Amino acid sequence: MPEIHARLSASGAKKWINCPGSVQMEEQFEDKVSEFAAEGTKAHALGELKIKRQLNRIKPAEYSDKLTELGEIPADMTEYAEGYRDFVMERYNEVLRTTPDAKLLIEQRLDFSRWVPGGFGTGDAVIVGDGALEIIDLKYGTGVKVPAENNPQLRLYALGALELFDFLYDIEVVRTTIYQPRMDNISSENLSLEDLNDWGRAIAERAEKAADDSITERIAGGHCDSGFCKARAICRAYADKKTELAKYEFTKPSKLSEEEIAEIIEQSESLSKWAKLVADYALDRAVNHHMLIPGYKLVEGKSNRKYCKSDKEIECILTEQGYKAEELYEHKLKGIGEMEKLMGKSKFSKLLKDCVIKPPGKPTLVPIDDKRPAIGSSDSAADDFKDAIQK
Ligand code: SF4
Repeated sequence: MPEIHARLSASGAKKWINCPGSVQMEEQFEDKVSEFAAEGTKAHALGELKIKRQLNRIKPAEYSDKLTELGEIPADMTEYAEGYRDFVMERYNEVLRTTPDAKLLIEQRLDFSRWVPGGFGTGDAVIVGDGALEIIDLKYGTGVKVPAENNPQLRLYALGALELFDFLYDIEVVRTTIYQPRMDNISSENLSLEDLNDWGRAIAERAEKAADDSITERIAGGHCDSGFCKARAICRAYADKKTELAKYEFTKPSKLSEEEIAEIIEQSESLSKWAKLVADYALDRAVNHHMLIPGYKLVEGKSNRKYCKSDKEIECILTEQGYKAEELYEHKLKGIGEMEKLMGKSKFSKLLKDCVIKPPGKPTLVPIDDKRPAIGSSDSAADDFKDAIQK
């Protein structure tokens, strides 16, 4: 069954809080399920099954049927899902020690429409006992570490969970937690009930604006990329932000200052990502909607030759001509990522930890607030990274 999303969703909150016009803008685009999103959905389903089995909420036969329905599961996904199950169970057992009637809800629909028009979402794990309520959100991505601090998605889920439990339990503190195993990231935020409600009131005003279709104001910022806004390829506000670089054409004197160079470096990466977004959008319209942009046509791209018969058939043709089968194939060891997928992270580390090194990466210029330590003076950096630079 396709997933149903609220118009003002918790996962999209970063966008509609900062840019009220984003709701209408994004509605012009279809929802496309990426390979990464499908992988994340499978990991969530697996984690849910494992917790339910552990709690004996499903019988072994149902568990194994549902496992089969999920299809092929890589060993590392099993390991991450079990890590998530153990983490949730540990938190739940801790609460049970002081609150025997504590509750653990898995994949629970949470309705926060009191604050956000039509707002609802699904909490991966919600634990409630006297004194505290915790929302745990599994993130399966590997791109960016997601912090729990100031995370509007989790705070909205918390507001939704309070609707269910506030009158049943004596809740004073709300904890929101991100569990992101593939990035070794566990991050939590504790909020008093009062602070969460104050935040809810402030957000309710923004939500009202975002839900109002007569307000089309668009405000570009970090939320466009971190929220993966679907409208980035056509959004004027986003384009204006990206093309701020154009001002350097008119800058005097003719030589750029150090500060200007720093700003150009900072913007260049996001500028090239934006250019790709626009090009992908134009290609999609041409291929799928037969709409060409002026001055462009659709042609066949370059392609490489490939066999159109099976390996066995080709082997037969060649061995008949006197070639030996072993000459025709090449064996290659799987890469580290694939090998971890095959056996899981802990087995990989047990068997191969002495066989893996991490050579220094090429020196890279990053903003001063990047978490990685600086690599020292430029002379010693040049010495340390001589090999990496030459490669
Ligand atoms: S790209 Fe940014 S500014 Fe444009 S609609 Fe999306 S969130 Fe708003």
